[in-house]
Amino acid sequence: MANSKYEYVREFEENPTLLPNTFIVVRVDGRGFHKFANKHGFQKPNDRRALDLMNAAAEATMREISDISIAYGVSDEYSFVFDRATSLFDRRTSKILTTVVSTFTSYYVYHWPTFFSGEDQGLSPPLPSFDGRVVLYPSTKNIRDYLSWRQVDCHINNLYNTTFWTLVERGKLSNREAEERLKGTVSADKNEILFSQFGINYNNEPELFKKGSVLYRVVSESFPIHLIQRPDTISKTQAEKQRKLRQKATIQKEHVDIIQDAFWEANPYLLLDS
Ligand code: ATP
Ligand code: ATP
Ligand code: MG
Ligand code: MG
Repeated sequence: MANSKYEYVREFEENPTLLPNTFIVVRVDGRGFHKFANKHGFQKPNDRRALDLMNAAAEATMREISDISIAYGVSDEYSFVFDRATSLFDRRTSKILTTVVSTFTSYYVYHWPTFFSGEDQGLSPPLPSFDGRVVLYPSTKNIRDYLSWRQVDCHINNLYNTTFWTLVERGKLSNREAEERLKGTVSADKNEILFSQFGINYNNEPELFKKGSVLYRVVSESFPIHLIQRPDTISKTQAEKQRKLRQKATIQKEHVDIIQDAFWEANPYLLLDS
């Protein structure tokens, strides 16, 4: 940038950075998606096209920002977890947050026609937008608890919503009546309503709806586990090689339990500790 007498205004810029050696989570969430879902005729409580679109946008984001090691999505939100040792944008908060949010939003709009191809399903204002926040987690336990929190939320909301909409659509209750019926009920009661009144076994509902979606890079011949190391513990050349491998690695999408140990024991390289 050319020097000028105006250059001094740059000193007004603040460049907060994120604490080193902590897990960075960026969570994006659709703005006003309750309304947006109605406008575009999302099926209730789970529109599969909308979830597939969220997953496609998240996968593209993860591919472009290769320092993201794992992502978890449910409803209109997606959490992106960065490598603990990432030095992306020198860990500048605004750069990281805004790049994730705008990359995700661009791909959401870009992929929209792939999933919503009907005649009157084109996008028109208000267009989809997403807010975003950054949270730091210092320990592996904390980051696992964060992801567990989101997945438990998915479970609780989905059980409630599934029962609510079954009471409305098949039980012919009004929204208010369904709400009244569910007041004070626990999980077992909702399972019972679904089963005894409607013959629905909640366990047989799609895993995508019950568990949300997890995205991560799979270890393979082209992405060998012995090459996955914290970038701050290897040379610059090795780190660059690792970055290229990550860009090319296959991103796996699963709808599995990430609360129990099994997933993390099978994929120990996802949350490399110090
Ligand atoms: P960063 O990701 O760090 O922002 P950058 O490549 O976007 O990197 P900028 O400093 O933002 O770098 O500069 C934007 C660059 O984009 C310009 O140097 C120029 O090459 C190009 N550019 C932007 N707008 C135009 C335009 N209207 N016509 C031609 N080139 C443009
Ligand atoms: P805010 O701007 O505060 O986030 P919001 O309307 O987006 O408001 P959320 O709590 O984020 O509220 O809830 C998202 C809402 O979007 C859900 O309650 C649901 O109505 C709708 N929604 C999101 N994804 C889907 C989907 N796949 N199928 C059906 N409805 C969905
Ligand atoms: Mg929202
Ligand atoms: Mg939400």
